[in-house]
Amino acid sequence: MATRIGLAAFVAFLCWHPGFAQPSTTQIGKGLYAYISDNDSSANSTFLIGERGILVVDTGLNSREGAKLLTAIRQISQLPVEYIVNTHYHPDHQGGNNVVGPNAIVISTDATRERTLALMKDPDIKALNLKPADLTFHEGITVHLDEYTVEIFFPGKAHTSGDALVYFPEQKAIAMGDLFLNRSCPAMDDGSVENWIHALDQVLSLPVEKAVPGHFELGTRSDLRRFRDYLNDLYKQVVALENKGETIEQVVRDIHLEKYSDFRQYPKYEATFSSNASTIYRQLTH
Ligand SMILES: [Zn+2]
Repeated sequence: MATRIGLAAFVAFLCWHPGFAQPSTTQIGKGLYAYISDNDSSANSTFLIGERGILVVDTGLNSREGAKLLTAIRQISQLPVEYIVNTHYHPDHQGGNNVVGPNAIVISTDATRERTLALMKDPDIKALNLKPADLTFHEGITVHLDEYTVEIFFPGKAHTSGDALVYFPEQKAIAMGDLFLNRSCPAMDDGSVENWIHALDQVLSLPVEKAVPGHFELGTRSDLRRFRDYLNDLYKQVVALENKGETIEQVVRDIHLEKYSDFRQYPKYEATFSSNASTIYRQLTH
């Protein structure tokens, strides 16, 4: 949520474009599964099953979505959910914490916990019964789940000012939160597009083959690279036009993104080529 958008629009954002497909669970490595939500207003999840317990990344919008995720987990394992990682503070990524892992240790960046505590004071959000992090970090933290390693790190401001990425080195996979939306313009909160591109380059420097996006279908390395190229192309065009002295209106008119014509755009939620260009322009000029 951009603070500029305001809470009402953000709550509307949570209801965007309801999908009608079924949720799907795909094994993407040893012990590791991607849960692709059937509801575009509720985030995807990733879960790792160890010998004694389970780690889950993101839990969906609310208790209903959390229960759907838990049902999918229980079709594979009855082990306790020991850890939940929330990639950022947006409720569609953490609203199911209480249902998915009532006794789990919740992990997030410091910034995500702070923003979550602030959200919990809002009457519109209170009903979600959020469960903020028990354990926070600034740069990174490693969880050793039985035989597996889970590297959780903050790549700097990107979609928000406190996003976490969750890397599974043994499985060559990563949970991206909203730093990656497959074939879609992203919504941009109080992050930094310049650093977002650096963060994606950092991920692409890892031997990652599967990337679980915050929303929409599971991504390959080349899907992730294409999303990175979209942000980079757009960023470079906006920088060049701004350097020529163009206004924000002229920049929006003069950008060329025909190469990405298959990307989803959601004008209502400021997730379009134009709104992404405007966000970059404002980040450059403020
Ligand atoms: Zn988000």
